[in-house]
Amino acid sequence: MSQGRGGDVIRELEAVFKDRLFTEPHILALYSHDASSEVGVKPMAVVQPVSVDEVVKVVKLAIDHGFKIVPVGSSTSLSGNATPKLENTVIVSLERMNSIIEVSDIDWYARVQPGIKVDELNLELMGYGLQWPVDPASSKTATVGGVISNGGGGMRGAKYGPASHWVLGLEAVIGTGDVVRVGCRTVKCREGYNLVQLFIGSEGTLGVITEATLRLAPLPESFVGIMARFGNAESLVNAVIKVRRDRLWPMVTEFVDDKTAQLLSLEPRYYLWIGGVDTYAGSEQGVLTKLSNAIALNGGEIIGKALTWQDFSKLLEPRKMLYSAQLKAAFGDYGMDAFLLIEDIAVPMSKLPEAVRELQELSKKHGVKMMLGGHIGDGNLHPAVWARRSDKDEVERIMRFFEDVGSLAIRLNGTVSAEHGIGTQKKELLKGGAIGSRNNGRSDLVIELMRNIKRAFDPYGIFNPGKIFD
Ligand SMILES: Cc1cc2nc3c(=O)[nH]c(=O)nc-3n(C[C@H](O)[C@H](O)[C@H](O)COP(=O)(O)OP(=O)(O)OC[C@H]3O[C@@H](n4cnc5c(N)ncnc54)[C@H](O)[C@@H]3O)c2cc1C
Repeated sequence: MSQGRGGDVIRELEAVFKDRLFTEPHILALYSHDASSEVGVKPMAVVQPVSVDEVVKVVKLAIDHGFKIVPVGSSTSLSGNATPKLENTVIVSLERMNSIIEVSDIDWYARVQPGIKVDELNLELMGYGLQWPVDPASSKTATVGGVISNGGGGMRGAKYGPASHWVLGLEAVIGTGDVVRVGCRTVKCREGYNLVQLFIGSEGTLGVITEATLRLAPLPESFVGIMARFGNAESLVNAVIKVRRDRLWPMVTEFVDDKTAQLLSLEPRYYLWIGGVDTYAGSEQGVLTKLSNAIALNGGEIIGKALTWQDFSKLLEPRKMLYSAQLKAAFGDYGMDAFLLIEDIAVPMSKLPEAVRELQELSKKHGVKMMLGGHIGDGNLHPAVWARRSDKDEVERIMRFFEDVGSLAIRLNGTVSAEHGIGTQKKELLKGGAIGSRNNGRSDLVIELMRNIKRAFDPYGIFNPGKIFD
């Protein structure tokens, strides 16, 4: 785009967005990256629409002027997918489209705008005795639109699974400037291809989600939760497996390793949180006994108990600081030269002992510092490694570790991305490893299907270039 055209674009954007258009360098810098270590570029502008009509207008301007759009919620993404890669990008931030439109406490759905934060939504839903059980550890900041677009999961994932289980319908502006509404308000919905699921995990590449109809679940009538600690990872994993063998089904099963614990001012041991096991009023003590047995049999000790979600949330606070601990380790070692990589694999539960053991071996093999934690109750592990950005050898070692971890997940019948998305960081692992391994090396077959889908939604190639397979 020429300088002259650029000036035209800004003027036309200003006519629509007025004081919700930003071109100041320090604001553009804020939107030039997400929470990953991916290095982006400054976009040419940021706009904050307040209605679907304004989203349509910015998409039509993009078609006319040939600029790109990266839709964002709170830019807390960890795979680089909310990081703009081209300078002729307009960031469409949905942060002001943040209302709850409707809650049905009979049909158990909520219609919301995409910019509402997950915790704000759940606070409101508590008043109805309901929940949207997709709560990433970033739920204070992450938006519903971002969670859906990342196909995110969260703390309650051990029982409820990720976003793909909890969205009934969507409204979105696609790359022709048209508004489409897909899905239903009923849990059963068979209307041709499932386009709702196509948007989930599409990482902002198919359109801008402007409204979501979310499936809700009732809050449990009673609650049991524990925090326990172990001397090593193996014992902790075996306790998780024992809970599973005992057919206990907790909402939350989370852990951190000894290095993380130390940075969180806990004694350097392995910590496990289990909460929200199916109970009814009166059955809590029986469930607590079963949990205590599973912990004790594997050499652990319970150091905290909770009988309400609120009390359990307080116990869980250190786990929610996993990312802060990872940042502390990386930036503590290398200051602003730190390069932090956070993996996001998932393996079948039965493979957890092998996965955790091999991760520890891989970190030794590559001579990298590793911290481990994650949503162990759904097999989702987040090994984090870091290097000095200017030290090529160290960067190469963490990159090789990253690739080997992906290969490990594939070998154990798992996935290279459980919830953070492919973004820019896992494009090669997706093509070469994950998809290729399931298609006799023919990843091109599946990638081409994805490209065709992208072309159908986004014929001018406007949305979030450089991501997933691009
Ligand atoms: C401390 C911390 C903890 C985290 N814990 C978890 C966790 O437990 N589980 C988990 O899944 N993730 C976690 N994450 C990653 C991230 O927070 C989540 O993926 C979250 O869902 C992103 O929400 P967001 O609003 O910040 O989205 P953004 O980062 O703004 O965007 C994410 C992606 O969605 C697209 N997008 C955003 N909004 C829209 C829209 N309205 N329409 C179309 N596309 C859109 C963007 O283009 C981008 O590709 C964590 C991150 C941090 C920093």
